[in-house]
Amino acid sequence: MTVIWEPKADEETAKWLAVAEELSVEHFEPLAEELDRDQRYPWESVKLLVDSGLAGIFVPKEYGGQGASFATTCAVIERISRGCASTGAILTAYALGGTPLVLVGTDTQKDKYLRAMAQGEATSFALTELGAGSDAAEIKTTATREGDKWRLKGEKIFIGNGGASRYYVAFALTDPAAGARGITAFMVDKEAEGVVIDHLEDKMGIRGTQTSNLKLDTLVGDEDMVGELNRGMRLAMQTLNAGRISVAAQSVGVGLAGYDEASREAVRRHTFGTPIIDNQGISFPIADSATQLTAARMITTEAATAYDRGEDVAVLGAMAKLYASEASHAAVDIAVQVFGGDGFCKPTRAERLYRDQRILQIYEGTSEIQRLVLGRFIKKEASEQ
Ligand SMILES: Cc1cc2nc3c(=O)[nH]c(=O)nc-3n(C[C@H](O)[C@H](O)[C@H](O)COP(=O)(O)OP(=O)(O)OC[C@H]3O[C@@H](n4cnc5c(N)ncnc54)[C@H](O)[C@@H]3O)c2cc1C
Repeated sequence: MTVIWEPKADEETAKWLAVAEELSVEHFEPLAEELDRDQRYPWESVKLLVDSGLAGIFVPKEYGGQGASFATTCAVIERISRGCASTGAILTAYALGGTPLVLVGTDTQKDKYLRAMAQGEATSFALTELGAGSDAAEIKTTATREGDKWRLKGEKIFIGNGGASRYYVAFALTDPAAGARGITAFMVDKEAEGVVIDHLEDKMGIRGTQTSNLKLDTLVGDEDMVGELNRGMRLAMQTLNAGRISVAAQSVGVGLAGYDEASREAVRRHTFGTPIIDNQGISFPIADSATQLTAARMITTEAATAYDRGEDVAVLGAMAKLYASEASHAAVDIAVQVFGGDGFCKPTRAERLYRDQRILQIYEGTSEIQRLVLGRFIKKEASEQ
């Protein structure tokens, strides 16, 4: 029995978890400190993700992937994030970029982009713009008719795996007067004329990932439209409903890494003649963290499984993301505290985890936005009673 609850893994999940475990222990975890220090994108780790099949774990088999369930994908994201938050974030960005295509892509689009994804030529999700993060309906990028093409014009920011990905699902206004109901998604190739990526963020954490802008003044065709005209915002929200569950899985992974550090150090470090874990001031917060991480893992597992069953996960996904990201924050905070001064200084893992964790409460909808989403559902339900 383990203190932290372990979900019962079916055969498929157990197989992929074993692959993730081996890669994490052998390669990703040992590299994590260097990636953080040098802010370097780990192409060698991406190659391992591709060669092992993990890069296309969620991609259907007919498009060259592994066809694993979303629950299995999330379990793998959690395991990899526990070893290296950056590598876990790269795999999460793959899943986020691939989701619109899995949901509504044409066969031709799936064959091109999902197959490429499994080979390491990823697609990123490009929604956010300056002034349009939480309130994504405020995007200003436009797609206007030019002959039989669409001219995309504008600039996206904060794109996960940006620059490293070859393709982008970019959201643009096709009917500006209609606001959120006038947004459409298009595939963009970074090699195309009029596509420029010239800024990479200098980040506090997950420094082994790349986060870029995407400047657009380029032509795309009708065949590049993802889903229906003017249905892009709905597609973005459907994508984020799933994406939030994978960020919850990432959060559980990073939180567990914090718990691992805190509990081991609390046993190793002695003061006043006893291990510090013998003080309730140390053991109680670690116990709280173990409880929260167990609950976070349960809700995340259930949300991912509900998604696989085809259920609407708007509520459960928001809850999973909110709860798991905050539980992971508590876990890494305790880890820093347990390490004392060392926890504040590089290169302790606790110090790195503290910085790596912080984004989990921000991207794919901040904690406030998850509460806002839940508040709307609560209001609707209560109004109907
Ligand atoms: C490393 C990184 C990777 C990212 N990856 C991607 C990606 O792959 N694709 C993509 O499209 N975007 C991506 N993003 C963007 C990310 O999703 C946004 O940064 C996030 O949604 C918050 O938006 P914002 O930064 O504009 O903050 P703002 O929307 O300006 O929010 C500022 C603050 O106000 C709060 N707030 C806003 N509105 C309300 C409200 N109504 N009630 C209460 N509080 C509110 C927010 O919670 C936040 O605390 C990424 C960002 C980062 C930093």
